[in-house]
Amino acid sequence: MHAEPSPSEATCPKWCNGIHDHMDERVASHRSDASFVPAVERRPGSDGVTFDRVAAGDLTVGLEQCWGDTWVWISPEDSVRRSLVLTLESAHRLHRTLAKIFEDLVP
Ligand SMILES: [Zn+2]
Repeated sequence: MHAEPSPSEATCPKWCNGIHDHMDERVASHRSDASFVPAVERRPGSDGVTFDRVAAGDLTVGLEQCWGDTWVWISPEDSVRRSLVLTLESAHRLHRTLAKIFEDLVP
């Protein structure tokens, strides 16, 4: 006897790592494995306003699909509270904007 996957698991996107948080009995949240991007960032100081500290760490980047929408997570490893969770379209716009900024940096 083998267990059939639930209907939501049977429709996993190809990037799903197979570990699901179930929103309810019928809906699973599909997640990709995380990618880690080493990053140095300026952070607010003790006043919470002035960005006078520099910290190094990893950014966690991944995909999640839930209720038919796909989201891109960008999160400092030590603060999920400061995460960006973007639609795919928003992440594409961010990607294009960063690419344009980097092109403009070339002398
Ligand atoms: Zn899945």
